[in-house]
Amino acid sequence: MKKECPICFFPTYYYDVLGSGTHNYKIRCYKCGEYILGDEAEYYLKENPLDLQESSNLSGWLTSNQNFTFYRQDIIRLRKLKSLYADEKAELLFREIAKKYPTPGDNIPDIFQLISKIVDLRRKEEFPNIGGLNENNVKLGLCFYAHSRSQSIKEFGYLLITYLIEHKGILIKDGNYFRITPNGWSFFNHLQNPNQASSIAFIAMKFEEKLKEYSDDWFETAIKNAGYRPIRIDKYEHINLIDDEIIANIRKSKFIIADFTYNSPGVYYETGYARGLNIPVINLCNKECFESEENKVHFDTNHYQFLLWEWDKGEDLSNRLKTKIEATIGKGDFLESDG
Ligand SMILES: [Zn+2]
Repeated sequence: MKKECPICFFPTYYYDVLGSGTHNYKIRCYKCGEYILGDEAEYYLKENPLDLQESSNLSGWLTSNQNFTFYRQDIIRLRKLKSLYADEKAELLFREIAKKYPTPGDNIPDIFQLISKIVDLRRKEEFPNIGGLNENNVKLGLCFYAHSRSQSIKEFGYLLITYLIEHKGILIKDGNYFRITPNGWSFFNHLQNPNQASSIAFIAMKFEEKLKEYSDDWFETAIKNAGYRPIRIDKYEHINLIDDEIIANIRKSKFIIADFTYNSPGVYYETGYARGLNIPVINLCNKECFESEENKVHFDTNHYQFLLWEWDKGEDLSNRLKTKIEATIGKGDFLESDG
């Protein structure tokens, strides 16, 4: 019998200790993908299993935070993730379908049938190679299921058929296949980052002296090394109102680096504005601040992954931030000499 994923309870295809001398488990789950679980976190989950809502939220969260390492406090924090609204879940599902089938006219298999079958057969010994299933279509079906954060096959059917097909008209069923409609492509286009071609990275942070120095040394280095041009608004002389300047710069950025150290309200405002425009945000925070009671990051942002950094480990942060930018945004082509 295959080992069950402690997050989503679907079978895993790899579940073992991560290298010798560690107590962390590496898990590859058909639904959640890859993640790492500290041994205390594993024990905690055994004693306090997730309920259905927590499980579907966390499994969905993992789809966009692959290879995350969970320690006990991460599970405690992330099990409280707010459930999304129906339209948000349907949008995540649709976005994933359009990404996997990017050519207009593509035949999309009947994923509702596929997922029903997977759910039915998942406890069988031969899973996933049973009843016309195989590794690839199981991973594909469960990837859609995870993205939609559905708690049941009934909910998934509602999102796919009632919401996306009947209500929004952005998918149609044609024989045994689904297809994205022209309305669907307009909708998808509207969900994309508007500034694909920009080389600007806007830095949102509290303008505190020590933090500004840290940003100069490490945030900016990482951004430049990844091939982008950092813009921090306090560095520019301008005649416009600062708010207008901020908005104008966010509007033309390819992505935002948001540092939540000292919990400045401006940072929440600026990242919210960027997210509303579908401009990606990379979240940072000083580790001590993140974990302290008084500077605790506001709960809603707990949905998102944070790069935590320490004052005396700037170089480490800079390397991780560069890697994160290249992995999520892509490598840019800005050279410092371009000004
Ligand atoms: Zn899982």
